[in-house]
Amino acid sequence: MNCLVTGAAGFIGSRLCQRLLKTGYDVVGVDSFTDYYPRWIKEKNLEPLKKEKNFKFVEKDINELELKNTLKNMDCVFHHAAQAGVRASWGKGFSVYSRNNIEATQKLLEASRDSRIKKFIYASSSSVYGFSPELPMSETSPLFPFSPYGVTKLAGEHLCLLYHKNYGTPAVSLRFFTVYGPGQRPDMAFHKFFKSIAEDKEISIFGDGNQTRDFTYIDDIIDANMASLEKGNAGEIYNIGGGNRNKLKDIFPILEEICGKKIKVRHQDKQRGDVLHTFARIDKAQRDLDYSPRIHLQDGLKEEWTWIQNLYYP
Ligand code: NAD
Repeated sequence: MNCLVTGAAGFIGSRLCQRLLKTGYDVVGVDSFTDYYPRWIKEKNLEPLKKEKNFKFVEKDINELELKNTLKNMDCVFHHAAQAGVRASWGKGFSVYSRNNIEATQKLLEASRDSRIKKFIYASSSSVYGFSPELPMSETSPLFPFSPYGVTKLAGEHLCLLYHKNYGTPAVSLRFFTVYGPGQRPDMAFHKFFKSIAEDKEISIFGDGNQTRDFTYIDDIIDANMASLEKGNAGEIYNIGGGNRNKLKDIFPILEEICGKKIKVRHQDKQRGDVLHTFARIDKAQRDLDYSPRIHLQDGLKEEWTWIQNLYYP
């Protein structure tokens, strides 16, 4: 099996490439090294992959890639490339989001029409729910994206659905809920918290800490991607969450225990686009994909702490 992974130098894409290679697939990874966070972190993500003989890396923007040729011998596509992050999606930043999240997805879907791919897996996001009136959120809950980022991720999902309905593209959308663990992006909360703790700085949180999140460990997300290859039903959408939700402020004692340090917290104003709660119903993924999150928050956070220390203070 030949797989194309877009966003292969990123947090989730690089970990997915590792699993695909370990399982015996041939992988072509594409990434343009967008400047949202430092290149050296993405290069680190790629280091173990570049040692694998069945991995080929292409540094290119999807919008500029000769896609028909790239897809010629592919059996599946994992489309993870995107401009991530809620807060930078306002104002002038939006054009980057529409180019990397909407236009790039449309181009990839268009090129997939004439290919032999058996599955097109799209990395969607819990941000499509926004201020959903339903908790937990199920795939049939109303969608009210609350940030421009959420709007672009939802547009990508709709594109997948309409290419499926009109051209039979075997697209499956996975809505990831706040992913954490080794490799987590530097703009995400746990990464920032651990780095500040390591440097004996206070940690900043937006709002009063009563917001809740359904945190999902990276390897559970990878399990869901792998399962979708065989079992994901084309034209369907699946929530991929961690199975629990936690108040942000309840995480601090866990961080103190893991790091063996007292934490100083500074509260900042709530950010535009941040929702109060996320919480996934995952029974559809359990039923169709045999998905079952395995990693408890405490264990997953320990893994991330070890990774952060190796990354910044080897
Ligand atoms: P990431 O920023 O670490 O990885 C995305 C990668 O895509 C980056 O390396 C970037 O350089 C690349 N990229 C962006 N636009 C590109 C383009 N036009 N051409 C080629 N490469 C391009 O982000 P991540 O956290 O690994 O997220 C991966 C996917 O999962 C994204 O689609 C994101 O929206 C989705 N997602 C992530 C989370 C999370 O908690 N991390 C939650 C929900 C959804």
